[in-house]
Amino acid sequence: MAHQISCEDAGMDCAFVVQSESDDELVEMALLHGENQHNVEMSEADVRELIKPAG
Ligand SMILES: [Zn+2]
Repeated sequence: MAHQISCEDAGMDCAFVVQSESDDELVEMALLHGENQHNVEMSEADVRELIKPAG
């Protein structure tokens, strides 16, 4: 099943959502987004807690 990470769930006023079958890919893309768009460095563990089923 695909999963997603929503930037809004991280407390940001941001519509960014990433979906993937791969949790590792989700985490990687979310970390990149945080750094590039919000200048925020999150830990991989924190990002993994934001993973939920897509949809
Ligand atoms: Zn964002």
